[in-house]
Amino acid sequence: MIMDLIFFGMQGSGKGTLGKAVAEKYGLEIFETGAELRKLAQEDSELGRKIKKIIDAGELVSDEVIMEIVENFINNLEAGKAALFDGIPRKIEQAKLLNTLLKKHDRKFAGVLLEISEETALRRLTTRRICKNCKEVYPANYENDKCKCGGELITRSDDVPESIKKRIETFKEKTVPAMTLYKDHFLTIDGEPQIEEVQKSALKALDTMLQA
Ligand code: ADP
Repeated sequence: MIMDLIFFGMQGSGKGTLGKAVAEKYGLEIFETGAELRKLAQEDSELGRKIKKIIDAGELVSDEVIMEIVENFINNLEAGKAALFDGIPRKIEQAKLLNTLLKKHDRKFAGVLLEISEETALRRLTTRRICKNCKEVYPANYENDKCKCGGELITRSDDVPESIKKRIETFKEKTVPAMTLYKDHFLTIDGEPQIEEVQKSALKALDTMLQA
């Protein structure tokens, strides 16, 4: 059965990378909350500047802004297309609002957690880089200085120790409790191994879940 997937994972878990592979295989439309907010943060407006400040501090943007952009995304989804939500919900209030919205649109959904230790999260975040142009993410062991698209590789402005610490704390304190709302339809995937291995086991588990 085709359904929306709600991806959870500590910062650095690789959920963005896995999300792309999953979305491609099952034809899902990705909603990446952080990327949508970073787009808004680049705008030269009061809202843009406000959002940039919140993101750089590693804090959460208001539920009002988040729900507005996610609702807009759902309203514009092609009929019959399922979605993959990355970065929402981050707390129980958002989970309740999102679930109400999805139910209102008659959508079926399940939670997916990509699990890693805090140690792995810290190691990956302090060493990852992103492309200034296309925003592709590269791990520490990527040998080149340039992205595949030719763009310059930079450290994300919120991948600094203080912001990282704050985001991980929020994940543990707020996002983990929000996951309990999905416990009836939930899949946990080990995010510690290499990307290829994670993808293989994730797609296998998802095949089973979606065919049930
Ligand atoms: P990470 O998962 O590494 O924190 P994201 O790209 O998912 O990175 O998010 C970047 C930032 O965008 C967050 O630190 C937060 O400020 C904001 N953000 C993303 N998703 C949400 C959300 N659901 N609610 C509030 N703020 C959010």
